[in-house]
Amino acid sequence: MTMPASRVARPSTIEEAVRLLADNGPEAVIIAGGTDVVPNLQMKLFAPRVLVDIKPIRVLQGITIAAAGALRLGALTTLTEIVGSPLLQASYPVLVSAAATIAGPLQRNMGTLGGNLCLETRCLWYNQSHFWRKALGGCLKKDGDVCHVAPGGKRCWAAWSGDSAPALLTLDAEVEITGPRGRRRLPLAQFYLNDGMNRIALGRDELVTSVYLPARTAGRRGIYHKLRIRDSIDYPLAGVAVTLEVDRSGVCREARVAITAVNPAPLLVKEASEWLVGQRYSAELVDRVAHAAIRTGKPLTTSASTPVYRREMVRLFARRALEEAWKNGNA
Ligand SMILES: Cc1cc2nc3c(=O)[nH]c(=O)nc-3n(C[C@H](O)[C@H](O)[C@H](O)COP(=O)(O)OP(=O)(O)OC[C@H]3O[C@@H](n4cnc5c(N)ncnc54)[C@H](O)[C@@H]3O)c2cc1C
Repeated sequence: MTMPASRVARPSTIEEAVRLLADNGPEAVIIAGGTDVVPNLQMKLFAPRVLVDIKPIRVLQGITIAAAGALRLGALTTLTEIVGSPLLQASYPVLVSAAATIAGPLQRNMGTLGGNLCLETRCLWYNQSHFWRKALGGCLKKDGDVCHVAPGGKRCWAAWSGDSAPALLTLDAEVEITGPRGRRRLPLAQFYLNDGMNRIALGRDELVTSVYLPARTAGRRGIYHKLRIRDSIDYPLAGVAVTLEVDRSGVCREARVAITAVNPAPLLVKEASEWLVGQRYSAELVDRVAHAAIRTGKPLTTSASTPVYRREMVRLFARRALEEAWKNGNA
């Protein structure tokens, strides 16, 4: 599986990267760690004229304290840096818990947070070699006009299958996006469009430059649980992130539950905060929220596992993560 012939451009500033993206439009693709984009190039999912390698842009690296006590994570922060950061371990454990499950150590050394948030979608029919796809006549997202997952519809159901986003959703994170018109900040929940064809709210001439974690969510107890075929390396088939703030008397003061890999976007379970805040732990309440999680998740036949099993695992993970977080609730 050879790479298509592309020119590699190596901008050293954000402005230069934006100019390259604007000048080359759909013919340009960003590469950061390359751990997702390179296999996709080898499978001929796209064949850009220019690969914009953003790794030389130093200001995109590292973890720093920003205004109002927020934490800024540059888009090029690697997953290994996240897992090993004492600051994140102490203040935002759910992100560390999720990042530690991403791929294997080699991909975590290369892979970046920005790349993880902007991952391509995954689907049994889309993430295949050119030869395999051609034999099937393509699919709605690539070279065809049928979604093999839901053949009657006009929508692409490829699953968005990243692990850091659900954790960041439970921390009310924001993404900073930079383009020709300057910088803008967007709640992460609005960054994902829940559409397999058009997965993120990012223009062709824009890049993700930072992720911000607000001070108010620092210290929240958090856990991420993930289903995958091989625990040592695979993308999620389902994942659930939970953050809770529980006071000394055992009453829940803040709660978020988010799911991944079972829809074309990572999603917050809307009912979770509403039902949990102001309540004490009870098995019935946790079961109700776990049930809301499986109503939010719509796993279809996009992966090697069955939709029924993935739904059940979402329920189990939600229940287990809520129980664990509640028992260790931070006062
Ligand atoms: C064997 C294997 C297993 C994997 N398992 C997992 C897993 O379990 N969980 C998981 O989440 N991922 C997994 N991955 C995918 C990948 O390793 C990680 O998601 C990684 O974080 C991607 O980051 P990257 O820097 O390598 O992204 P790249 O491959 O460089 O880019 C990924 C996508 O993001 C875009 N992009 C990159 N940076 C930016 C930016 N700053 N702004 C805008 N767009 C950008 C690229 O154009 C591309 O579309 C796996 C990959 C492999 C090969």
